[in-house]
Amino acid sequence: MDLRFSDARPSAEERAAVDAFLGAPATGWEGGARSDDDLRIAVGGHEARGRRDLLLPALHAVNDRIGWISEGALDYICRRLTVPPAEAYGVATFYSLFSTKPRPARVLHVCTDLACQARGADAVRRSTEERLGPPGMSWQPSPCLGLCERAPAALALQAGEFPGATVYGPAEPVPASTGDANGNGGPDGNVGAGGSVGANGSTGAGASTGANGAGRAHDTGDASGTGDAGNAGDARAAEGTSGTGGTGGTGGTGTAGDTNGTSGPGGAGDASKVRDLSRLGGLSGMDATGGPALAERAEPPAEHAVPQAGDPSLVLLRRVGVVDPASLDDYRAEGGYAALREAVRIGPAGVIREVLESGLVGRGGAAFPTGRKWEAAARQLDHPHYLVCNADESEPGTFKDRVVMEGDPYALVEAMTIAAYATGCPKGYLYIRGEYPRAISRMAHAIEVARARGLLGADVMGQGFAFDIEIRRGAGAYICGEETAIFNSIEGFRGEPRSKPPFPVEKGLFGKPTVVNNVETLVNVLPILAGGAAAYAATGTEGSTGTKLFCVSGTVARPGVYELPFGATLRELLDLSGGATGELRAVLLGGAAGGFVRPDELDVPLTFEGTRAAGTTLGSGVVLVLDESVDLAHILVRIAEFFRDESCGQCVPCRVGTVRQEEALHRLRRKPTSGDIALLREVGQAMRDASICGLGQTAWNAVESAIDRLGVFSPSEAS
Ligand code: SF4
Repeated sequence: MDLRFSDARPSAEERAAVDAFLGAPATGWEGGARSDDDLRIAVGGHEARGRRDLLLPALHAVNDRIGWISEGALDYICRRLTVPPAEAYGVATFYSLFSTKPRPARVLHVCTDLACQARGADAVRRSTEERLGPPGMSWQPSPCLGLCERAPAALALQAGEFPGATVYGPAEPVPASTGDANGNGGPDGNVGAGGSVGANGSTGAGASTGANGAGRAHDTGDASGTGDAGNAGDARAAEGTSGTGGTGGTGGTGTAGDTNGTSGPGGAGDASKVRDLSRLGGLSGMDATGGPALAERAEPPAEHAVPQAGDPSLVLLRRVGVVDPASLDDYRAEGGYAALREAVRIGPAGVIREVLESGLVGRGGAAFPTGRKWEAAARQLDHPHYLVCNADESEPGTFKDRVVMEGDPYALVEAMTIAAYATGCPKGYLYIRGEYPRAISRMAHAIEVARARGLLGADVMGQGFAFDIEIRRGAGAYICGEETAIFNSIEGFRGEPRSKPPFPVEKGLFGKPTVVNNVETLVNVLPILAGGAAAYAATGTEGSTGTKLFCVSGTVARPGVYELPFGATLRELLDLSGGATGELRAVLLGGAAGGFVRPDELDVPLTFEGTRAAGTTLGSGVVLVLDESVDLAHILVRIAEFFRDESCGQCVPCRVGTVRQEEALHRLRRKPTSGDIALLREVGQAMRDASICGLGQTAWNAVESAIDRLGVFSPSEAS
């Protein structure tokens, strides 16, 4: 692709997708029709450049509509936002969910990461390859999709006027076909919410009505296999595309499938599935002007990922499975917004004091004291301050934030509001990974409702402070979970980490003081304020207070998200989750950046200090159970591949080191040699010492612990 403006023109559909998001161009200088005036004067340049942060959402808008981003579409976006094409190309090619080459409208992402690997991802990959051919355009192997409790999993993303997403778990075979090279839906295409689909199905096009606008019956069929009987159409709600308060329409009648089709039940309207994703490119959730909505397959409810759901001892997960995630009234009836009322009563300084006294530390892995971060940001004189909620949990094996957002979305809205109140932020960004369509739609809905009820906006709860939330959707880049990479991503640049200092609390998003916390950290603020810092601090241990969410996956009887007080042992957690399905070989704590624990070390206390003393890490709470059936060397190679893929390439130790690490592991898998072990140690130490960010600094952790603690690649392990 040419890196300058070219003669390529956007198609009418591409142009419409961009204009639907950015609005029609005002002048010829930004892509509109040229007039004589345009030859003499240029207007609007500063304004257009000030919208650089809309680059990522604009790319999403095209990718969602067409399935890929052509040269003409990219040029048009560049003119609209006055972004140099070379830079926009660099951004578009940074993210794995975008393509700058033609591909079908429907693309299947087959997870091949750790939890899925441990539960048969290789077989899924092989069968997908047999049916769809080599990975490339219509399907591709994917890093962790955050669906680990349903491993092996796959995610199909469908582009079009009504883009959709379909999640496949182990009992749900992926489709046999995913569409043609012209971007048309596959022969097992779409099914109307109330429609029927055959093996060679057809489009369900029954119209339906939302309360405030036109709803559409649209969803993705899961029928498969030429000649097979198609699956029945799911009883899904047609989705009104109206704004807040709309109710779902009744399912339309899908166009009949072919003779193999079997009718599916009609989909009744469901207010819980009404979502305004009108500015789909940005999912800003800032307005409700009507527009397309993401389709949602009838996935299991969020509480299916929480084996403890309903347990009265739960703190952070206590509402998951208890409240309707779409209902603000349900949330309030279960104690919602008591914490914000308390925050307003004690004032911003009081909130920070409570958070400091609670001993809360960040749950993303770094364990930095949250109160100190808030205190430092609040006292910055430069304004405005920004709040960024990092919901880009991409560490392989991590899915707790998804479950919180899907099962208790108002909790995050309330927690962000409290954080913003304490630190003086009028605006917050909620950055959610693009692989979480249901979490995105649930959060968008919750934000709209909260805004409509005066819990967000210019005068929150009539208390004289302003705060609002804009959702930004990631596009498939692990590194965007790094706290400074997320700023670059939001600002419309490649998601590359920045050097620190300056730290985010001094110069963060748009160069302004910024507080960055992840989802789990923020929702901890609710019990602190509602129940008191002292009571909170009494739970857990001295250095690790409160409760912790653990993502248990792999070869374990009951995978899912578990909540335990800090200090519980790994053995207790494994007992709770039913234990390994075979003879336990090892447990990986902390994910790809973590370390392994042996079966004789299960009494390690699950605290930041306890795991550190045991030579591993709690990280973001990943507990990947591996029994003897799992090929550990293969898992290590997958970890190395992951870091090689996800390195942003900005610094040499990481860019080169992750490649050398993977090469050495491939050789070691074939024939262990002391030379390659020594090379790994040297490369690993260089990455740890000299990389800019945590990715490079931790890329060797798991491999090192497997070699030193588990004896992988020792002569007895050699295959
Ligand atoms: Fe990028 Fe790796 Fe360097 Fe981090 S350590 S900045 S991911 S190259």
